[in-house]
Amino acid sequence: MENWSLDTLAIRMGYERTHEQENSEAIFPTSSFVYRSAQEAAQRFSGEAPGNVYSRFTNPTVRTFENKLAVLEGGEACVATASGMSAILACCMGLLKAGDHLLSSSSIFGTTKVLFTKYLANFGIEVSFVAQTDQQAWSAAIQPNTKMLFLETPSNPLTEVADIGFLAGLAKQHQALLVVDNCFCTPILQRPIALGADIVIHSATKFLDGQGRCLGGAVVGSHEAVGEAVRGVIRTAGPSMSPFNAWVFLKGLETLSLRMKAHSAAAQSLAEWLSEHPAVEQVFYPGLTSHPQHELAMRQQSGGGGLLSFRVKGDQAAAWSVIDATQFLSITANLGDVKTSITHPATTTHCRVEPAQRIATGITDNLVRISVGLEDLEDIKADLSRGLDALLAK
Ligand SMILES: *Cc1c(COP(=O)(O)O)cnc(C)c1O
Repeated sequence: MENWSLDTLAIRMGYERTHEQENSEAIFPTSSFVYRSAQEAAQRFSGEAPGNVYSRFTNPTVRTFENKLAVLEGGEACVATASGMSAILACCMGLLKAGDHLLSSSSIFGTTKVLFTKYLANFGIEVSFVAQTDQQAWSAAIQPNTKMLFLETPSNPLTEVADIGFLAGLAKQHQALLVVDNCFCTPILQRPIALGADIVIHSATKFLDGQGRCLGGAVVGSHEAVGEAVRGVIRTAGPSMSPFNAWVFLKGLETLSLRMKAHSAAAQSLAEWLSEHPAVEQVFYPGLTSHPQHELAMRQQSGGGGLLSFRVKGDQAAAWSVIDATQFLSITANLGDVKTSITHPATTTHCRVEPAQRIATGITDNLVRISVGLEDLEDIKADLSRGLDALLAK
C-alpha cells in the first residue's frame, strides 16, 4: 500500500468490508452502537477498548472518509466536521486559548474572517491580518504570543498564491502552527503537509463533494493536534459530520483526481481565452505566465485549480451584464461543482467588506469570478461570449 499512488489510495484506502462483502462502502446511519455486555460498554467508554460508541464522535462511514482524506493529505489523523466553518472553529478551539495571537492572511474566505474577528475575539484570542503574498509583513507581524498562522492558497477570488514552505519555516521558528485551508487545490493539486504545514482544513462542501450536494468539513494533521485536541472539541461540542454526508464525500474522493485535473485543464484554457478577449481588462489565474506568483504556483501546485476571476472593461453594470447574459452557467457563490458557476464577488461574497477596503484589496466592482465546471469548454465560452461581445458593441 505504501507504493500506491494517490489515485489508487483515493479509491482503495480506508475501508473494511462488512460480513455482507459489499463492493461499494456501506452507510451506517445509526446514532449509537450496542455492546455485548456491561463490561464491553465500560471498556469502550473509557477508551480502554477500541470501537464505536456514539456517532457524535465514532461512526464507521465517517471514519472511512477520515481515513481516506488523512492518507491523501499525508496527515496522521483526520477529523470530519459538519461544515468547513465548523472545521475551522474546532481547529481554533482545540489549539488556541485566551491570550494567544492568531495571525491570518487578509485574503481568506469572508465568513472565516467574521469567525476570527467577531467570535474568537470575544473569547480573548487576539487576531491580526497581513497581505497574503507579503513575506516581510508575515515576519514582522509575529508576536511573542503568536500560536497559529492561517491562510488559503490560492486565495478567493484573486488567486493570490502564498509560499507554504516559507510560512512553515516562519511558524516553526516561533513554535506556532501553520494551518492551510486547502479547499481550492485539494490534495490532488497541492499537499501542504508535505510542504511543511502542520494542519490542513477542508470545506468538503466544495471539490471533495464535487457535485454541490452536502455540507461538510475536515481537519487533518498530527495525532496530538488533530487526533486528540481537535477530535476532543468535536466529541464534546458536536459539530459532527453525518454518515450520509460522509458517504457522499467518500464517493467524491474516488473521482477527485480525475475531476481536479479536468477542472484545472478547463480553467487554464478558459483563462487563456479570456486574456485574449478585447472586453476583458485582466485575468487572475495561477496557471497564466502573467500571474505575479506563477512560478511559485507551478512549483507548489500540480495545476492552477478550477477557480479564476477577471475584470471586464467597465463598471459594475458591465460585470453584471456579462453574468446576466449567461444562459446555463449557475449564478451562485458556491464553487467546486461540475456545474460552472459565475458570481460577482463585490456584491455577494464580499458585500460585508467596507467598500474602500474591498477595492483596496482588489475586489473591484468590475470583477467576475468563475468556478470552472466540467461542461464542454466551447459551450462555456459561448455562454460568456454573449455578454462580453455585447460590451464591445456598446
Ligand atoms: C466555503 C469555504 C469555507 C466554508 O465551508 P462551509 O462548508 O461552507 O462551511 C471555508 N473555506 C473556504 C476557502 C471556502 O471556500
